[in-house]
Amino acid sequence: MTTTSTTTKQPRQYTSLIAGQPRTASRAISRYAPSNGVKVAEVNAADSNVVDAAVKAARRAFDEGPWPRMTGFERAAVLSRVADLIDAHAEELAMLDAEEGGKPLKLARGDIGGAAMLTRYAAALAVEMRGDTFTNSGPDFTGLVLREPIGVAGLIVPWNFPALILCQKLPFALGAGCAVVAKPSELTTGSAVRITEFYVEAGLPEGVFNLVTGDGEAGGALAEHAGIDLISFTGSTATGRRVVEASKQSLTKVHLELGGKAASLVFADADLDDAADGVLFGAYFNCGECCVSQSRLLVQDSIAAEFVARLADASARIKVGQPLDDTTDVGPMIHDGHLAKVLGYLDTGAKEGARVAVGGSRANAGDLASGLYVQPTILDSVTTDMTVFNEEIFGPVLTVTTFTDAADAIAKANAVQYGLSNSMWSKNIDRVLNVSKALKSGTVYVNTAIDAPPNMPFGGYKASGYGREMGQAGFDEYTTLKSVNIRTGRRAGTFAITAPRAVRR
Ligand code: NAD
Repeated sequence: MTTTSTTTKQPRQYTSLIAGQPRTASRAISRYAPSNGVKVAEVNAADSNVVDAAVKAARRAFDEGPWPRMTGFERAAVLSRVADLIDAHAEELAMLDAEEGGKPLKLARGDIGGAAMLTRYAAALAVEMRGDTFTNSGPDFTGLVLREPIGVAGLIVPWNFPALILCQKLPFALGAGCAVVAKPSELTTGSAVRITEFYVEAGLPEGVFNLVTGDGEAGGALAEHAGIDLISFTGSTATGRRVVEASKQSLTKVHLELGGKAASLVFADADLDDAADGVLFGAYFNCGECCVSQSRLLVQDSIAAEFVARLADASARIKVGQPLDDTTDVGPMIHDGHLAKVLGYLDTGAKEGARVAVGGSRANAGDLASGLYVQPTILDSVTTDMTVFNEEIFGPVLTVTTFTDAADAIAKANAVQYGLSNSMWSKNIDRVLNVSKALKSGTVYVNTAIDAPPNMPFGGYKASGYGREMGQAGFDEYTTLKSVNIRTGRRAGTFAITAPRAVRR
């Protein structure tokens, strides 16, 4: 039985749901709220048998069931009903993500609005799904390019945007006609369980969407399963490499959304009020636990001292607090191991010569004492060889490095292994376009940070992954193409067929 009330004193129980039915394995994982250490959920950990049953249910639904054969309008109708259910239960879903993940409730509400919007957008794309036709290869030849669902998609989701990232994948896969096995993070399972229930309520045929709950054991079993046609994975670069390794034997197509180390490039000609606000938002949004966190400030040397002083002043006023408090800006880190990792980076930064401009340690005063909080921190005087410049810290930590001109800014922005996003602040249109083109990242924000309309493709360069999520490109990831070469009339002779048509003409 799955319970999802956020007011219960009992931990919520989450289990895998295969073709609508609960399915358990023997191991369970306890989840403790990062804000206060109270046990909030127990997650049944799917093993390879449970994953196998989920993949077989999805396979049957794809090969024999009605879903891939329905019209785009029919699939869109189901997705639209789910979007309505997400909206109707928005507060409940936001509370689950906030409590289990520690994200501030006001941000969790934004995630849920985004999840509904993505689901509606995917419904529109389902209606528009189309291939192509070539009619220019002679009067007796027609080339049809059929766009078909890729098959069974395995979706592996991280903890930092539990409902949102699930909905960057799931409705797109379903809209294309795929069947799905999804695995949320063991740390934040609640909203995925509820969304699975919404699909049942919305009339999705049995077996089309199956949820496996659990940790890396379940994720690994999914990644290596020969019955999967596509793995769409969002998570760390290290786990992404393991997913690629696991998929090698079955040659499963893999789509990877991985880590990041984005820079905010602030030029002297920027609107500095706007830039200061955007740089801090980009660094501390979602407690800095965000793949597109703008965690490196690159600021032009002529304005650096004044700009950093201004940021430090504003940073000291950011509210660190309980996730369920509406006024909180920055909540706790996701788990104690991660807290230790973030604090370890602060130590390393200091040892390597960074200067703490503000923050710099754990926040544990008053009602933060039993939670996993870090003070919003700015590390100044950071150089490109330092660990904190290069590695993803994934906490509320901003590093500051200066640059001389656009070429220097571009070189420093591109100097890291990641390439997910960057932002730039300038009012000079020539510079905006030239720098945007030179940045090696899948997204560039100009005079803004962390905007993500559902119709803009999103994904990485370099160690941030490959493939795209959202936009038409994100939908197309879940499809494959079939070329149908049609010749009408009589062929002139038997041998005419042995040469490619382009050669014969
Ligand atoms: P993670 O890699 O630890 O886990 C991600 C998911 O993979 C979880 O569901 C986890 O249970 C599962 N998993 C763990 N081991 C696995 C294995 N061997 N095989 C298959 N699945 C396995 O990542 P995380 O800590 O949950 O998330 C944080 C990371 O995700 C950060 O690096 C962040 O930058 C990245 N991220 C990227 C994007 C993006 O769009 N590029 C978005 C959000 C987060």
